[in-house]
Amino acid sequence: MTSVPDDTASQLAPRRALEYPALVGILGGGQLARMTAEAASTLGIEVAILEHEANSPAGRIAMREVTGAWTDEAALAALAKDALAVTLENEFVEVSALEWLAARGVDVFPTARTLATVQDKLLQKQHMRSAGVPVPDLAEVTRPEDITAAGERWGWPLVLKARRNGYDGYGNATLRGPEDIADAYTRLGWPERTLLVEAWAPFTRELAVMVARGRDGACVVYPVVETVQRNHICHIVRAPAAGDTAMLARAAAIARQAVESIDGVGVFGVELFELADGSILYNEIAPRPHNSGHYTIEGCVTSQFENHLRAVLGLPLGSAAMVAPAAVMVNLLGKRTAPARADGLADALAIPGAHVHIYGKLASRMGRKMGHVTALGATVAEAEAAARAAADAIVL
Ligand code: ATP
Ligand code: MG
Repeated sequence: MTSVPDDTASQLAPRRALEYPALVGILGGGQLARMTAEAASTLGIEVAILEHEANSPAGRIAMREVTGAWTDEAALAALAKDALAVTLENEFVEVSALEWLAARGVDVFPTARTLATVQDKLLQKQHMRSAGVPVPDLAEVTRPEDITAAGERWGWPLVLKARRNGYDGYGNATLRGPEDIADAYTRLGWPERTLLVEAWAPFTRELAVMVARGRDGACVVYPVVETVQRNHICHIVRAPAAGDTAMLARAAAIARQAVESIDGVGVFGVELFELADGSILYNEIAPRPHNSGHYTIEGCVTSQFENHLRAVLGLPLGSAAMVAPAAVMVNLLGKRTAPARADGLADALAIPGAHVHIYGKLASRMGRKMGHVTALGATVAEAEAAARAAADAIVL
């Protein structure tokens, strides 16, 4: 019989009760942390936030706001003081910060090991491929010739990606042919940043699946949703995705397999491509609540944020079933660079059934995620009409 070290055993033990005040620390203070704090509040749980700057969206509603770098030991200690667990809203947190906390007996989820696998897109996708998850062909890029070779092998277009710190498409470039290599190569920051190249996935739709996984390995898989990106940023999420049952089941199974393969604890957003023949390819995973799961706040029995907290705290996970036949989320992106101001808010709030979320960012920038709207409906079309009408009314 193998013996389980004590620290692992305590982390795996389910929690039967909570003592108050109950506190959870979050690395990062953006909208994901803010919505996690809102979910925490319904269970009487407070949050502590560590963010580089004061007055972050989550910092302003937190019980404790710590300002500092994620690698600052004093700041980490202040974040974790009396916390039942520490989690993150941003996968670019340094792995060493999670290790530092865990070494001091703090329950940290997702773990440093999970984060290390996910944080580097090359390692992440190589890991998924060896775990049997279907990924597009990909290769490490150490010099421009690696890209030319990939084009000869897989054809064009190709997608060149930064291994680290890419989000909302900022770390990606689509190459139509060899003539695009030089520009993209330098724009993505080589040689300071290392790159990978992927074969083009000829997708017909993009899908996403939220998966919550508890400390005990129990999994809850949310409905497969359709995501529509505009300028590489999530624009609309339609839940549930239309499609035949077998295809949707394959998507859900791949998402679950991906999370299990990294021993993920918490909530994870898995992005997928659906191809014309109904096959599914894995794109990437976010080790945290995800934009494609915002619809779960009103659309599901248990929101992604609440299940994230339940998972990291060792509490039982809640149902991911939808409470209406359909839910549609539309992002509210900044349409100007100015102090934040929600013009048209009154018109949006007048639309029956539109749930308006504004993240409390103090400044608007073009394309910045400032909020979102969710509407439920008897059909996706009905929910989408209400969500779009409200989103169109607001200028942030
Ligand atoms: P985000 O933060 O929006 O999730 P990201 O910067 O992490 O994005 P990816 O998810 O890797 O970047 O890619 C962004 C978008 O680019 C995808 O949603 C998809 O539309 C497109 N894309 C990425 N990889 C491929 C590929 N191999 N083939 C075709 N399209 C791709
Ligand atoms: Mg993505």
